[in-house]
Amino acid sequence: MYTVPELEDYSPEALDRAVADLIAALEEESHSIADESQWKEFRDRWMARKNGVLTQVNDAWLKAAPGPQKREVGKRVNELKASVEQKVESAHESIAGATADKAIAAERVDVTLPGIRRELGAEHPVIRTMNEIVSVFKAMGYSIGTGPEIETDYYNFESLNFPPNHPARDMQDTIFLAGQEHKAQRDRLLLRTHTSPVQIRTMEKQKPPVRIVIPGRVYRNDAPDATHSPMFHQVEGLAVDTNITFCDLKGTLDHAMKSLFGSSVKTRFKPSFFPFTEPSAEVMISCPFCGQKGCRVCKQSGWIEMLGSGMVDPALYGFVDYDPAKVSGFAFGMGVDRLAAMKYGVDDIQLYFEGDVRFLRQFA
Ligand SMILES: [Zn+2]
Repeated sequence: MYTVPELEDYSPEALDRAVADLIAALEEESHSIADESQWKEFRDRWMARKNGVLTQVNDAWLKAAPGPQKREVGKRVNELKASVEQKVESAHESIAGATADKAIAAERVDVTLPGIRRELGAEHPVIRTMNEIVSVFKAMGYSIGTGPEIETDYYNFESLNFPPNHPARDMQDTIFLAGQEHKAQRDRLLLRTHTSPVQIRTMEKQKPPVRIVIPGRVYRNDAPDATHSPMFHQVEGLAVDTNITFCDLKGTLDHAMKSLFGSSVKTRFKPSFFPFTEPSAEVMISCPFCGQKGCRVCKQSGWIEMLGSGMVDPALYGFVDYDPAKVSGFAFGMGVDRLAAMKYGVDDIQLYFEGDVRFLRQFA
């Protein structure tokens, strides 16, 4: 950076050289000014009354000049003063101009550019399938039941007829919350392994008749693969009233399957076991994909296992203060992820949860 030199030689040639050096420095410093605050620094450095470059020139050159040379030096100092003032002013104009240019550029709209597209979303295939199932039952007068996904052992197992140490608990590999060893078993928290706790919670709050359909997420300690996921979806249903029979169960589920898969679909009931229903039945439908000729989906059998069902075990009514001598009912449940996979020909259910837009876009 330029510093004002002491002059020893006051000849006109030496003075011209000193002036030229100063003007060159002034010019160079003015080029690096980019904004208002840098310009102020520049102005003060050159023009400040106290110790600005011009003040220093006045002291070091003019005041120090020997008498006969004062006139010659004074003339040059006055010219320098004019040059500095002019430079400071023009530097300010050029940064103001640059700022204005930037503002104009920022506001300019190029009307020839394409517009911004808004991507349209689509219902996820699992949610869409779940909504379809729910709407079939809503049309039959069922209302939607919901409940917490973090449940107590009591609601998830005990009240559904899975007593502690009952072997049926082994069928469902449960994810428990950590650090609850101090609690009584029935109070321990877990991720619900089925939507069935909502049946109990609803019956606790509501006297019969009850007709609910329960869609929701459930969790089991299953390693993810093409047909398993630690989080998946179920839809369950419960109907409790006076005089509900197994015929009502069959008629309701047969109607539901025809609504979902077409009126030519047949249903078949096969004895099964669930702790909370007695008797229990697996419901199979005739394969809607091949018309029972045999295909990959039905594994050449012509039939597909669709849901679990049964008459509500009267023991459950004891947990919710219903009178088993007066009421009866049925319950059913199905896995949504598998059903959606079948319907849309998805061969790996992990695709549902990876969030890959290329996969999801196929359902838009
Ligand atoms: Zn088939």
